[in-house]
Amino acid sequence: MITAIVGINWGDEGKGRMVDLLTEQYDVVVRYQGGGNAGHTVVNDQGKFALHLLPSGIFRKGVVNILGNGVALDCESLWTEIQDVTGKGVSITPENLKISDRASLLLPWHRDLDSLEEARLADKKYGSTKQGIAPFYSDKYQKKTVMAGELLYPAKLWERLEGILEWKNLTLERVYGAKPYTMEDLRRWVEDFGEKIKPFICDTGAVLRKAQAEGKSILFEAQLGSLRDLDYGIYPYTTSSNAIAAYAPVGSGLPSARIDSVVGVVKAYSSCVGEGPFTCEWFGEEAEKLREAGNEYGAKTGRPRRVGPIDIVATRYGVQCQGATAIALTKLDVLSYLDEIPICARYELDGEEIDYFPFPSLLADAKPVMTSMPGWKCDISGVRRWEDLPKAARDYVEYVEKEIGCPIQYVSVGPERDAYIERA
Ligand code: GDP
Repeated sequence: MITAIVGINWGDEGKGRMVDLLTEQYDVVVRYQGGGNAGHTVVNDQGKFALHLLPSGIFRKGVVNILGNGVALDCESLWTEIQDVTGKGVSITPENLKISDRASLLLPWHRDLDSLEEARLADKKYGSTKQGIAPFYSDKYQKKTVMAGELLYPAKLWERLEGILEWKNLTLERVYGAKPYTMEDLRRWVEDFGEKIKPFICDTGAVLRKAQAEGKSILFEAQLGSLRDLDYGIYPYTTSSNAIAAYAPVGSGLPSARIDSVVGVVKAYSSCVGEGPFTCEWFGEEAEKLREAGNEYGAKTGRPRRVGPIDIVATRYGVQCQGATAIALTKLDVLSYLDEIPICARYELDGEEIDYFPFPSLLADAKPVMTSMPGWKCDISGVRRWEDLPKAARDYVEYVEKEIGCPIQYVSVGPERDAYIERA
């Protein structure tokens, strides 16, 4: 059984908690793209964790967690994260964490370049989290970084790094007037961080092929959501990798894999970190109340997230991009304070009502066409069975399900591991 768990919208849909829940049914969990630039929040019996790069299966005994070749392998933030998580009593060893030898390394200058470029862009910036992700992926595709496996062959590694350093310093100095790096800086960096992750590096493609041959179940875990996908999202306000399920086999190290099911995570309302068009956005007091109710502050940056009602148009598009076969609707409990549940049902573009997601450069002109449904106005966080939800809440879930064209299998009503309802 191969499943992908993905975000349907702008990211932060609550994937972390869903993966944490689903990992119980899987032997292997693989992160296939992205880096330490976003965060999953997981609350379980071991504590509260903000995961950035580590796969969410890391908390389950016996689960093998893999960082696939498609990730932006930031040794520095990975090592910090490993220390943080192990410091809270979670065991991380080469047995339960494996890093693909083909994962490219995010080098120290990638982070600098992110900040330098955002500073140059000033008010035209893309809202980067400044973790070096965009410079990293551009360099990966220019073949100007090294793969994790190269750490195992120092002589070749240093020869390659010397060439890359010379090239990168041209950009740092001549384009941005920044301080160049030295081989000594790189040596220190490899010693401080590269060496630490070395024990985890292996041919994870072989591990996955073996797992597949033995009939083990595999979960592909995405970072961010459909609308941030490099090719299908709201370009240029996307991330720099493919977040959609179709990329999972490639970025995981099992390119021949056929995915059996795609679980898409959708929040019961909308939230978005960073820049870019966000059609259903709320402002002022209305937004403040929803942000407070949902505790919508970035897991990585602490930035207040932009919030608004659920966006049916964007969600339907996100479901299509992912080929989702089931939906997990999260944070339904957050809407309990509302008298009426607002819904962005369609867009208006050039005076016309539309129900398709417009081309990115037209998005900024789209206006939300709103409708609403009655609220339930009671605490639903203790509900564990579908039939025990108030009728208004069930009606809302069923409405969303019909509009987005995909069955809603899970509804979560609280951050804790067991705070969810599974529908038959
Ligand atoms: P991710 O990156 O997609 O995992 O999203 P976040 O890190 O933003 O996680 C969503 C946040 O909402 C975390 O703080 C979770 O603990 C919390 N959360 C997840 N599901 C629920 C839910 O059903 N209800 C409530 N109230 N909080 C939830």
